[in-house]
Amino acid sequence: MKSFKPLVPFLKRHLGSYVLGVLFLMLVDAIQLIPPHLLGKATDDLKNGLMTPKLLGLYAAAIIGLALAVACGRFLWRMNLIGASRKLEMDLRNHLFNKLLELSPGYYDTHKTGDLMAHATNDVNAVRMFFGPGIVRLVDSVFMTLTTILAMIFTIDFRLTLITIIPLAVMSFIINRFGKLVHDLFKKVQEAFSSLTDRVQESFSGIRVIKAFVQEEEELKNFEKENTKNFNANMRMVKIWGLFDPMVQLMASLSFTAVLIYGGIMTIKGNISLGDFVAFTSYLGMLIWPMMAMGWVINMMQRAAASMERLENIFKEIPEIQDEDPIKINSLEGHITIKNLTFRYKKELKPVLSDINIDLKPGQTLGVTGRTGSGKTTLARLLLRQYPVPTNSIFFDGIGINDIPLKTLRENIGFVPQDSFLFSDTLSGNIGFAGNFPDEEIIKAAKLSAIDKEIRDFPKGYSTIVGERGVTLSGGQKQRISIARALIKNPRILILDDCLSAVDASTEEKILMNLKSYLSGRTSIIISHRISAIKDCDEIIVLEQGKIFERGNHEQLLEKGGIYAQMYRHQLLEENLLKEA
Ligand code: ADP
Repeated sequence: MKSFKPLVPFLKRHLGSYVLGVLFLMLVDAIQLIPPHLLGKATDDLKNGLMTPKLLGLYAAAIIGLALAVACGRFLWRMNLIGASRKLEMDLRNHLFNKLLELSPGYYDTHKTGDLMAHATNDVNAVRMFFGPGIVRLVDSVFMTLTTILAMIFTIDFRLTLITIIPLAVMSFIINRFGKLVHDLFKKVQEAFSSLTDRVQESFSGIRVIKAFVQEEEELKNFEKENTKNFNANMRMVKIWGLFDPMVQLMASLSFTAVLIYGGIMTIKGNISLGDFVAFTSYLGMLIWPMMAMGWVINMMQRAAASMERLENIFKEIPEIQDEDPIKINSLEGHITIKNLTFRYKKELKPVLSDINIDLKPGQTLGVTGRTGSGKTTLARLLLRQYPVPTNSIFFDGIGINDIPLKTLRENIGFVPQDSFLFSDTLSGNIGFAGNFPDEEIIKAAKLSAIDKEIRDFPKGYSTIVGERGVTLSGGQKQRISIARALIKNPRILILDDCLSAVDASTEEKILMNLKSYLSGRTSIIISHRISAIKDCDEIIVLEQGKIFERGNHEQLLEKGGIYAQMYRHQLLEENLLKEA
């Protein structure tokens, strides 16, 4: 029960719905107890020759009237109780999504998307199931069991009641035990299914690689293995259900047999009337479901508690990066200072960046190059504070990065990441992602990124949908849309992380030409493998294993004759070879 504590505020807010729902439910249950009694009386009247057509009509009218009342009551408890549980589900999902948006990128390095999806679906569902259908079953089983048994005892006979409910009590106990078993098996079925879907998802994402390496047969074998596991898990479930169902039927039959024999004898002896006998069997029929439900309710509650605990673990997660009493500023000038920055992703890992010192005045451009894995992207991520930045190591306009509101920091930086992720939205929606921009600005940004003409060539132009439901863009096209998305923000600072790698040399040249005037007055950091993209920067640094290995402007670095000069020579040579070809 402790695990449900976080739900208390919600439950309090919807207490009215729950109370009303429970009242209607109990009312329905109580009304349902009357027809068997009427049926018993009618039987006795028929047997004793007291029944008249008028009386029969009254009995019929009473039963119909009660049925109507039950129908209304059922609608009302469902709207209140099940309605509240659906609200709880919606609130929990909103809260979870909000929390997941709040968490820092580092969280997503260590948590699989599949697991997070499972929390959002299975766990939320398990909680909803208990606080909706679970409550219904709980009220039903406790109230119906008690009232039916009392009705049996007081209107008919105590001993007969006792004899018939013993098999049912045994059944309830078995169901509870069985519920645990089913729960464990169900978990295994879910795991098997989730690993099956993981497998399929990966196969589809990597279909091109699979085909290129002719691995279809191997993939099929792996899939069959997972599929068989899934089948076996399901078969175990089928077996258990196969055993369980007859067992419940058997117990119910035992109860009915006991009524038939013992009740029959009592009726013959005249201890109870025939009407009592009929009413009793009706009550028994009504008792089976609530007694079975009792076992299930306990099980549902345990499942919901476990799910709530898992959700609570996410809710309790403190974002690695958040505002901590920041200085109130809305804009940045663009003066970036990096002082003795040493950074590691985790304490136990070795530093990815060591002793970085940079001073970039507003309006200046910094070029960053170096081998793959030398720390270039990490530097960009730290400037956006996507990972925890050591204090006194990065400053904007002299203010420590950790004292700047995250919103201000990120709104003032236009960032083009290496992987140009686009949303399944229109092209204009993707370019204008960061706000509400008029069409002219979207077109202007697209022109700057040299993608406007290609967009117009699509049948639906700027309204073309990107992704699975629309067009498939080339890597270079995605990169340019991603550049336009950053440029339209009109930021003081621009960080381009190797975002021209997939465009050809002439498009690159065009974009760089366009950017020249755009960049004037803005501070920019251009990360690239290609010297052509950074050679005009005010300062260029070459990173090697997280350290600044060389620095200077293009000419100075060429003069130095180090890695940079070597890279430049190689790239010139390649270019010339390409031109000749
Ligand atoms: P570059 O952009 O120069 O290719 P990165 O900054 O991406 O280099 O990576 C630098 C180093 O940091 C690499 O060794 C990489 O494996 C490591 N690294 C990158 N991201 C993470 C992360 N999220 N967690 C741990 N290590 C990381």
